[in-house]
Amino acid sequence: MIIKSVEFIISAVKPEQYPDVSMPEIALVGRSNVGKSSLINKMLNRRNVARVSSKPGKTQTINFFLINQQFHLVDLPGYGYAKVSKSQKEQWGKMIERYLSKRGPLRAVIQLVDIRHAPSKEDVQMYQWLSHFHVPTAVIATKADKISKGQWQKHVKIIKQTLGMEKHAQVQVFSSETGVGKDEAWQMFEQFLFG
Ligand code: GDP
Repeated sequence: MIIKSVEFIISAVKPEQYPDVSMPEIALVGRSNVGKSSLINKMLNRRNVARVSSKPGKTQTINFFLINQQFHLVDLPGYGYAKVSKSQKEQWGKMIERYLSKRGPLRAVIQLVDIRHAPSKEDVQMYQWLSHFHVPTAVIATKADKISKGQWQKHVKIIKQTLGMEKHAQVQVFSSETGVGKDEAWQMFEQFLFG
């Protein structure tokens, strides 16, 4: 994918604020600190489109970007940040549920997990939730540079087992540091977006 333009459209908290539905859309979700902002920046060849390490627990919004005037890339708020209050967690749940259940142009959700660790309880819940809403889902394992290449498949297997993924389902290995997996991730996105 050649990135010709990246436009920030809106930080939305409710559906009335979502941009128009004329273009297909792909959304990214994962635990706080999983490397979602870094992945977005890497994928878009930009330094600061999505803010890396912005304080977790701050006001949570759904951020829409328009890419190449062709599709929306959606940055969903990260989950699993321990210091967030119960009411903030509920707020998060409602906002995500409204988005996932009603967003017509949504073609797929890409769930990010850290390659080093077995998915958390919240990761598993998220994965199950996506399947409950019948949202096509793919998994990207981030921070691949943090373990040796020889370990990747072992970790991928644990991720698949813990999430309860089907045997043939794919987990894409990715690193924002080295760019490994970037081309494959774009192929995956394009497949979802344009078939
Ligand atoms: P987010 O909260 O999911 O948006 O995560 P960030 O993109 O802010 O990343 C959290 C931390 O992990 C930052 O310190 C990043 O520099 C680091 N990080 C993110 N991706 C990678 C990666 O692929 N490799 C390495 N080594 N560090 C990463």
